[in-house]
Amino acid sequence: MTCKTVLVTGGAGFIGSHLCLRLFDEGHRVVCLDNFFTGRLENFGPRYQELLLSGRFEIIRHDVIEPIVLEVDQIYHLACPASPVHYQYNPVKTIKTNVIGMYHMLGLAKRVRARILQASTSEVYGDPQVHPQPESYWGHVNPIGVRSCYDEGKRVAESLMMDYHRQHKLETRIARIFNTYGPRMSVDDGRVMSNFICQGLRGEPITVYGDGEQTRSFCYVSDLVEGLCRLMASDTPEPVNLGNDREISMLELVEAISKVLDRRLEVIHKPLPPDDPTRRRPDLTRARTILGYEPAVSLEEGVRRTVEYFKSALV
Ligand code: NAD
Ligand code: UDP
Repeated sequence: MTCKTVLVTGGAGFIGSHLCLRLFDEGHRVVCLDNFFTGRLENFGPRYQELLLSGRFEIIRHDVIEPIVLEVDQIYHLACPASPVHYQYNPVKTIKTNVIGMYHMLGLAKRVRARILQASTSEVYGDPQVHPQPESYWGHVNPIGVRSCYDEGKRVAESLMMDYHRQHKLETRIARIFNTYGPRMSVDDGRVMSNFICQGLRGEPITVYGDGEQTRSFCYVSDLVEGLCRLMASDTPEPVNLGNDREISMLELVEAISKVLDRRLEVIHKPLPPDDPTRRRPDLTRARTILGYEPAVSLEEGVRRTVEYFKSALV
């Protein structure tokens, strides 16, 4: 494989740090760009020194809402908080990150003729009325709700990607990422997997929002990173769903975590947040057909590995 210079925006975040390490281990020169809103240097863990001393790894503290000039061959554009708690903290900033950040990264890609992959989301389908969700589904999104800074921001980002592809012949790739979890999620992340596991480990009651019958389909982070790399290497400008198509309710997730922790977990119910999607499962036909993608880590195994990580993160 030829060594490329690869920019990863949001590279110090949960998914970004796994992706940076994967690209580094493949022999590429990695430029990790992050404003450290939710990203952390600790995400590179014991390998931090090795990365910096290698001469093939660079960290740039920068906010994508400002333009930047760099010489790179490929761009994975992940910069944006992903947890509802974090993206709703400053919704105007979230829209600017999604729209202006995307515009700046596309401008950079156009100038240096880099191939660019956008980390889009299953949230572009909103509270879906088609199930499971194929890429052809246009979605059911509340344009003025509390999630719209993220959902609509990502939808505009997809529009920009397709327009730069059509108008400027840019090599663009759009990954519609479904709920992803694993080591290096923040303890205070606010998403369901980290909340439930940390609550279980601390002996606190599990906070199930609503009746807990709403569903999600959880993808282990190494499977997602494999999908991102395969998509980047493909020649597909159309969006591709990436995730795991095993669908479970939040109550079933409590059960799965309870089995790994080997203890009964007490559940308390809290109000369902506004516009919380009722169900979500990716139709992975396109990813399987075009990319040969197949998630490999079962929910049980992924939860076990994530529990081990949170055990050490909580001490
Ligand atoms: P994360 O919050 O851990 O990572 C996001 C990273 O982006 C952080 O390091 C943060 O500091 C950085 N960032 C945020 N705003 C920035 C800005 N304006 N300029 C520069 N850096 C900025 O979240 P994650 O789970 O790793 O998600 C990464 C990407 O994948 C996001 O774009 C997210 O929308 C997308 N995604 C994630 C999931 C998931 O389940 N984890 C699902 C769908 C889509
Ligand atoms: N959820 C929950 N308890 C929590 C956190 C989340 O029941 O402590 C629910 C939330 O209402 C949603 C699902 O878990 O139905 C997934 O939430 P998350 O924030 O992880 O992701 P998203 O809603 O963006 O898919």
